[in-house]
Amino acid sequence: MKPLTLSFAIVLFCNQLIAQPPVQQDTSWKKQYRETAAKINDLVHTKLDVKPDFSKSYLYGKAWITLKPHFYPTDSLNLDAKGMEFKTVALLKGTKQLPLKYEYDELNIRIKLDKTYKSNEHYTIYIEYTAKPDEYQEKYGTDDFLGIKGMYFINPTGEEKNKPTQIWTQGETESNSAWFPTIDKTSQKTTQELTVTVDNKYVTLSNGKLTSQKKNTDGTRTDYWKMDLPHSPYLFFLGVGNYTVVKDNWRGKEVSYYVEPEFGSVAKKIFGNTPEMMEYFSKITGVPFPWVKYSQITGRDYVAGAMENTTATIHQEGAQQDARELVDGNIWEGTIAHELFHQWFGDYVTAESWSNLTLNESFADYSQTLWEEYKYGKDAGDAENYQGMQGYLQSGSESKDLVRFFYGNKEDMFDQVSYQKGGRILHMLRNFVGDSAFFRSLNLYLTTNKFKSAEAHHLRLAFEEVTGRDLNWFFNQWYFNSGHPSVTIDYVYDDAAGKVNVIIKQTQKGKLFTLPMAVDIYNGAGKFRYTVWSKNAVDTFTFNYTKRPDLVNVDGDKVMLWNKKDNKTLDNFIHQYKYAGQYLDRLEAIQYASQKQDDPKALDLLKTALKDKYHGLRNAAIFSLDLENEKVKQAAEPILADLAKNDKKSTVRANAISQLGQYKKPEYVPLFKKATTDSSYSVAGNALIALLEIDKDAATAIAKQLDKQPAKGVLKSSLQGAKAASGDESLEEEIIGGFNKLPVSQAKFNSLGTLGIYLGALKNTEKVKAAVDEIVKFREAIPQQFRKQTDPYVNETLQNIATKKEEALKADAANTALKELVDYIKSKIPAGEKKGF
Ligand SMILES: [Zn+2]
Repeated sequence: MKPLTLSFAIVLFCNQLIAQPPVQQDTSWKKQYRETAAKINDLVHTKLDVKPDFSKSYLYGKAWITLKPHFYPTDSLNLDAKGMEFKTVALLKGTKQLPLKYEYDELNIRIKLDKTYKSNEHYTIYIEYTAKPDEYQEKYGTDDFLGIKGMYFINPTGEEKNKPTQIWTQGETESNSAWFPTIDKTSQKTTQELTVTVDNKYVTLSNGKLTSQKKNTDGTRTDYWKMDLPHSPYLFFLGVGNYTVVKDNWRGKEVSYYVEPEFGSVAKKIFGNTPEMMEYFSKITGVPFPWVKYSQITGRDYVAGAMENTTATIHQEGAQQDARELVDGNIWEGTIAHELFHQWFGDYVTAESWSNLTLNESFADYSQTLWEEYKYGKDAGDAENYQGMQGYLQSGSESKDLVRFFYGNKEDMFDQVSYQKGGRILHMLRNFVGDSAFFRSLNLYLTTNKFKSAEAHHLRLAFEEVTGRDLNWFFNQWYFNSGHPSVTIDYVYDDAAGKVNVIIKQTQKGKLFTLPMAVDIYNGAGKFRYTVWSKNAVDTFTFNYTKRPDLVNVDGDKVMLWNKKDNKTLDNFIHQYKYAGQYLDRLEAIQYASQKQDDPKALDLLKTALKDKYHGLRNAAIFSLDLENEKVKQAAEPILADLAKNDKKSTVRANAISQLGQYKKPEYVPLFKKATTDSSYSVAGNALIALLEIDKDAATAIAKQLDKQPAKGVLKSSLQGAKAASGDESLEEEIIGGFNKLPVSQAKFNSLGTLGIYLGALKNTEKVKAAVDEIVKFREAIPQQFRKQTDPYVNETLQNIATKKEEALKADAANTALKELVDYIKSKIPAGEKKGF
């Protein structure tokens, strides 16, 4: 699964965190060991016959559940069944039903069987029930971010205009038992049949193969889905709605994309890499995609980013991008890979308990790095890996073990440790054992544990069997423990003795880490590689030389999960950029040079990086330029102009245009005008904003034209910005009023840009002053833990307003109200804070 917050590129803080009242911290969970659920009975087969009732948001169901005692004989059965009403609870004896006694508390149904069963005896329970997911949720509320109702009726009676009627289900973590009785544990596996009766106008999707469809005389249709291979109850899925189904295939198996009809024509542009991903993942795992088909569906108001239901993945509606959004790249491709890889890691072999969630999520997270590397090259894979590493390092999760037997809520396991940290740990493990051993071990783990559940030790055992090496130290350190190293690296050269001491200090609090890594010693383009193990608080590694090396590059493969202070010189970094060559080698050099832009050598490095072969680093270089530095501004201009016009990557053109806009030169007007017609929303949007600064009338006229067509993304906000730049008083209610009405939230933060532009142009000084007060109030109301990130942007907005007013003052020097306003705004910006991000 992908949690919702991970789907957005810019989430600085979320509504929920702010809206919640302060609560007494409950830490009792720290003492609660989360044991793996006991297996008393095992699910064998689940047959469901269901009919949704859209008028009541009910599901009428019949369930035939075949089970057997796990090992010890038993005369009773406990099923999870949330918020249901039962009509029949019986044992099937041939064709006859034998009613059984039961107790029910709206969570579990405890059934007394007709006799004691042994582990070799199968029995089938028949239950006729009504599931009432909405009423259950209403009654019991939820601490789960996903909700607990399992089945979601979206716009069921069609009251909401412009919203389709749909049903989708969300089982993870333990919510599918709100629409069918089952043993709702990841360690259970069952084959499945499902018949569903719906209005003939809808399509349905469930796990396995659509085996038959029967039209009924009352205008309904009954679809029969069959899943011959066992999987866990939380992976069951049912989707109903008006979808266009676009068919694809992989090695003769059905691959299909269920999208809302208007996205039928772009479905293959969004999901079309799926067969190639299936081929790639089949190849690297050595396990051909194990299921009968693979479908992907979108769901309105879906509660997470996406979910890997076996053969039937659901994606949030954000997956549905239009053709122009896709020009900048498919933002959903990583999620598509993530959910697909779960079909192996999660669905084929399942984490035995939420404590072992790493076996599902770390692999799914890492699949995004693997896919990027395979499809778009090593730089793209490394960029994905680095982004994941930053996500973890900035999350403040040092105290959490990857495999955790103590946690507050099972939903808490879906965090940056199970996902991003675990993904990076797999990357280090791959680097340590080598590609061939890594993928062989994955194959052994998958084939040994297929259709079963596993814990992290199963993974260790597979790696140990393949490599013949003890890996307890690695798993104890990374899987069953917390934190990460923080290191300082120093270099002491002694030319007389012909040796360099490389000193690695581990400065984190608490335990030390064992870190095997490559150290590369460079002379010119040539390098020697050594492997060292850092284990102590301070380790000194000595390397001899005849000529002082141009560069000593610690962690030569750039795989370490750590915080690092690497005391290299600018010359070292220049060499690193040119010869070490990995994505992170080059990014580190750009980052270092960006701090030294007065140094001509650093500036040269940045100029070179503006033309880096990887677009992500071209963008990093573009953003690193300090255009307030006149020398940098002059040196970068011709390159930025070239990138703005000619770069193959639309995001690079868009960012170059944005920077070039800061030169405010009329000679770029034709370039910006032309770029407003670019097929990329980000190029067109940034060009419009750049134009606004130079030729407001032209920009406003173009914005009026562009506003006639649908716009999304950057173009949409730029159009709002262009409108705001008119400073038209009639927009006051919409823009200032709109901002004031919003609670402290991400949405309010996002609307600051437009508000800033509007206030810069608005002539009424009293109204500007009042709005500035509101901005300051907002800045102060943001919870403290986010303010390091948010304050610079809020202050930059204030500074931009002040700058606009100062420009106006130049033409109207006698305007004392305006002069006072400038001073007032400036007084609201703390000293030393003028540049944002
Ligand atoms: Zn996932």
